[in-house]
Amino acid sequence: MLERHLQALFGFTSFRQGQKEIIEALINGADVLAMLPTGRGKSLCYQLPAFLANGVTIVVSPLLALMEDQVQQLKSIGLKQTAALNSFTEKAERRRLLRNLARVKLLYTSPEMLQSRELLAALAKVKVAYIVVDEAHCVSYWGHDFRADYLRICDIKQALGSPPCLAITATATKEVRADIKKQLDLRTPFEHIESVNRSNIVLLAEEAADQAQKQQRLVEMVATYQAPGIIYVQSRAQAEACSAYLAQEVKHVRTSFYHGGMENADRLLVQQQFMNGQLDVICATNAFGMGLNKTDVRYVIHLHYPLDIASYIQEIGRAGRDGALSFALLLTAREDRVQAKNLLKKNDFTADEWVWALSQLKVGEPLDFPSFENRLLAMQSDQARTVGYLLEKWGVIKGGLVQSFSMAKLTSLLHRHFKEQI
Ligand code: ADP
Ligand code: MG
Repeated sequence: MLERHLQALFGFTSFRQGQKEIIEALINGADVLAMLPTGRGKSLCYQLPAFLANGVTIVVSPLLALMEDQVQQLKSIGLKQTAALNSFTEKAERRRLLRNLARVKLLYTSPEMLQSRELLAALAKVKVAYIVVDEAHCVSYWGHDFRADYLRICDIKQALGSPPCLAITATATKEVRADIKKQLDLRTPFEHIESVNRSNIVLLAEEAADQAQKQQRLVEMVATYQAPGIIYVQSRAQAEACSAYLAQEVKHVRTSFYHGGMENADRLLVQQQFMNGQLDVICATNAFGMGLNKTDVRYVIHLHYPLDIASYIQEIGRAGRDGALSFALLLTAREDRVQAKNLLKKNDFTADEWVWALSQLKVGEPLDFPSFENRLLAMQSDQARTVGYLLEKWGVIKGGLVQSFSMAKLTSLLHRHFKEQI
């Protein structure tokens, strides 16, 4: 039954894991808290119910570029009753949209815009079918991407008569999930929680002797793969420098940079060029990528130690959304540890633990992120126990996996796979 609608509206033949359960719960009027890995198809979990419902579904999304992207995509497959309302929307267009709100099925908006009196007045006159909070981890102080404006969503939800609410994200620890339920006042929600493991992303960590060797390695990687990739750095200046450096050192590579200091229009342009295949590599700060729906990103390279595992998992999750083999490389130099140690002070684990933990990830065993982080946090200073736990957890100490999966072997396997794919 739902499959028929899936086919008719989206042209997909079957649901992906989790989608149907989430959609059914929402349609049956429950609040839903869902955690699905990046790339699984979280958007469909609200898009399908929206087009089956009577009334408008409001999707609160933190990202302007993402909204425009999804609206265009839906319109292109004939789902035209879709709109976005945000700070980019021209005044005349905004008025027209609000006047015709009854005809809209799916309205993407920002948490800031959701508070505007104009929009609230227009919403009061129509039936609101569902309220969706995408990237719901933004609701929580404990989330890695907390946005103060997300805290007001709950009041607005209540003002609109508390329609069924879907809070959906790819990464939320137990604490964040509890907070989401509280902040959004989800009452006995249906919960679908999955680990964020992405088995097609091979996790690698390499430590170069010094910065020069690290740069050389980066050039090698980018030159070898000639495929869409994202490189994360720590500052705006580094993003620009890295892009310029690669453009100079790697023949034919089309690079650009992306960071929070750029004009909105410039950021949108870079993101769109990357989406359209006009750019190969983006050197970016953590401002880049949330909700990015480019499916063929083949690698994500971090040139610094991530500050927390949640952000790291989120960032590497931008690779391989099409399910094809991809890799995430943490490429650092030994001296980066010093800086990492200072930055990591506010977190509960040390750079050494990071180095160790990430060096284990190359084994490619499933990573159960929430328990991984919880355990790491719980055991902060007791590295030995953490190590023991993780070795066991990942099956590293079973069957001699570490020995049989040396970094060299894994890297050569990767190279082979990539050569076959490109
Ligand atoms: P997420 O938000 O979970 O990271 P998206 O909602 O952006 O992922 O979806 C990722 C891709 O998966 C999109 O291209 C989408 O069209 C596709 N997709 C979603 N659901 C299905 C499905 N049931 N069958 C095939 N493709 C799907
Ligand atoms: Mg998404």
